[in-house]
Amino acid sequence: SRAPSAGPGAPGERRVALDPTTAGKLARAVSADADQSIVMVDAGAGRFSHFADAAYDDVSGVQVLEAGQHAEDAGLVLCVRPPEPELIDSLAEGTVLVGLLSPFQSRELLERCKARRITALAMELVPRISRAQSMDALSSQAAAAGYHAALTAAHEASVFFPMLTTAAGTIRPARVIVVGAGVAGLQAIATARRLGAQVWAYDIRAAAREQVESLGARMIDTGVDASGEGGYARELTDDERAAQAEALAKHLSTAHAVITTAAIPGRPSPKIITEDMVERMQPGSVIVDLAAEGGGNCELTRPGETVEHNDVKIVGLLDIPSQLPVNTSEMYGKNLFNLLTPFIRDGELVLDFDDAVIGPMCVTRDGDIVHEGVRKALE
Ligand code: NAD
Repeated sequence: SRAPSAGPGAPGERRVALDPTTAGKLARAVSADADQSIVMVDAGAGRFSHFADAAYDDVSGVQVLEAGQHAEDAGLVLCVRPPEPELIDSLAEGTVLVGLLSPFQSRELLERCKARRITALAMELVPRISRAQSMDALSSQAAAAGYHAALTAAHEASVFFPMLTTAAGTIRPARVIVVGAGVAGLQAIATARRLGAQVWAYDIRAAAREQVESLGARMIDTGVDASGEGGYARELTDDERAAQAEALAKHLSTAHAVITTAAIPGRPSPKIITEDMVERMQPGSVIVDLAAEGGGNCELTRPGETVEHNDVKIVGLLDIPSQLPVNTSEMYGKNLFNLLTPFIRDGELVLDFDDAVIGPMCVTRDGDIVHEGVRKALE
């Protein structure tokens, strides 16, 4: 597949921050202040997400930034992944930058935002409260990733997913295990079920059981619950990890396909599947590791590569939402639209930093790194 090679957006990124329809809606909302345009930092990517550049030409008030272009008159800069730090120097003080900014890894970008007095909002930090569900880009993109992972597992597996009754005999359905039943995991379960596989799920949050069972899958019980604050999982103790591993290894040895999705934001992915567990798996089985971006949930995962170990294939998928760029761009654009429009009054964006969504996701403002967790991580 093609990938954009250069441009102000991240290399390989195929998504755009706004599809043309959402760009038009957002531009109309802020149109009263014609001096300040909305700038999308995804030049090049539009082509790869299959939205024609020309479709943006008709959207007045939205500028798609080309490589090397400056954005002095931008009031609002929207991106998918972190822009080149150099872009920040061309922005006027007080410009609002919103995107998946990888705040815990983007030291240089944030230093420049601080120096230029940019207001930077990180989409990763949208809090997990009911009101913010429609703004949550991690969820919208994770759903796409889970779907894609199940299709990849079906494609790479050495067996059919569905049960087949044929003149040549009956084929039993594949056994699929999904590790991590969050947003991505639930979509992977639903997709594998639609393909006819028998699905087991495993999660350290006991609360995941109800959702797993409602999709027609069964929960693997290891006797460990690690529900943490704000809907995220907490880190496990060594004893808990050992108990978890023992129960899981037994189940994995019967699987035809395994999809792992357990990520803890801002931290390396927990290593859940050890080399030893892989060695006990069936020949011809496959692990699709959605947590490869953070190093992987399997010890043998190599991010961005497919490796084989003892006749088990381990697929370290990266940048998966980019594989479905039309829908993931539409969903991401809607997340941005839902986030920002409540703060547009008389055509002007006026953020409320006491708001329960804007406050926690604000990383830099008025020349400071205002997010305590990010400030500590970058110290
Ligand atoms: P996530 O990406 O943080 O993690 C994926 C899943 O992996 C989670 O279910 C987690 O419990 C699990 N996991 C983590 N470490 C594990 C380990 N060592 N072993 C096994 N499983 C492990 O989670 P997510 O997909 O973003 O969502 C988690 C929960 O938060 C879900 O219940 C989801 O519905 C909820 N949520 C709520 C909102 C909201 O209210 N706005 C938004 C997003 C998610």
